[in-house]
Amino acid sequence: MGLSGSRRIGLLGGTFDPVHAGHLALARAARAALVLDELRFIPSGRSWQKATSGASGAQRLAMVELAIRALPGVIADDREVRRDGPTFTIDTLHELRAELGPAPALVLILGSDQLHNLATWHRHDELLAVAHLGVAQREQVPLDGFPAPVDALVRRHRADTLPDEPSGSIVFFPMTPVPVSATELRTRLARGERPAEVVPGPVLDYIEGNGLYRNAGQR
Ligand code: ATP
Repeated sequence: MGLSGSRRIGLLGGTFDPVHAGHLALARAARAALVLDELRFIPSGRSWQKATSGASGAQRLAMVELAIRALPGVIADDREVRRDGPTFTIDTLHELRAELGPAPALVLILGSDQLHNLATWHRHDELLAVAHLGVAQREQVPLDGFPAPVDALVRRHRADTLPDEPSGSIVFFPMTPVPVSATELRTRLARGERPAEVVPGPVLDYIEGNGLYRNAGQR
């Protein structure tokens, strides 16, 4: 909690196609470093940047629920998979802000690859009016060398620690690198591998039980 007693809620959006150890490590690191009261995984609906997907929204949500069962203070939020049409993070943030009121700090959690892309996001210039950004370095993607608009945003909003405000700052936090991506996992799963070192057992059982990711190149 912040000094004034306001809640801090972390929001981890993604396709989670499938959820893996990198996402879980990011969630754990964010909770610890940013002192979050709650962290919500928000699987995307039909993402406008990733046109098709290997698993349906309902299946991606089900896998997230299985993966986070043992993580205290972490929940799955189904609003984007239930929404009809494309998913825009800014709409989700406004919706959450309207539901939760002005006081809680909302912290959008991102891997560094996503921060590099930020200027391509719909209405990205509004994000910091509604939330903070908490960013961890993803393996091979440094927390510098950003495109000019992102660099300007970072220079303007960067703080060493999260201030006791509901929104408006960008904080970098450390995490031990976990070199895995969903794209690489889908390829391995299509080859019939069981990548138990980076996907929780119940999620692997769900993937096998539902015959997901069997065709190479499937997204
Ligand atoms: P893809 O390979 O399809 O891009 P992805 O594994 O990068 O998939 P997403 O589900 O879109 O996955 O990622 C959700 C969030 O998790 C993003 O902010 C991304 O930066 C972060 N993330 C994904 N994998 C890792 C990882 N190994 N380490 C740290 N952050 C990660």
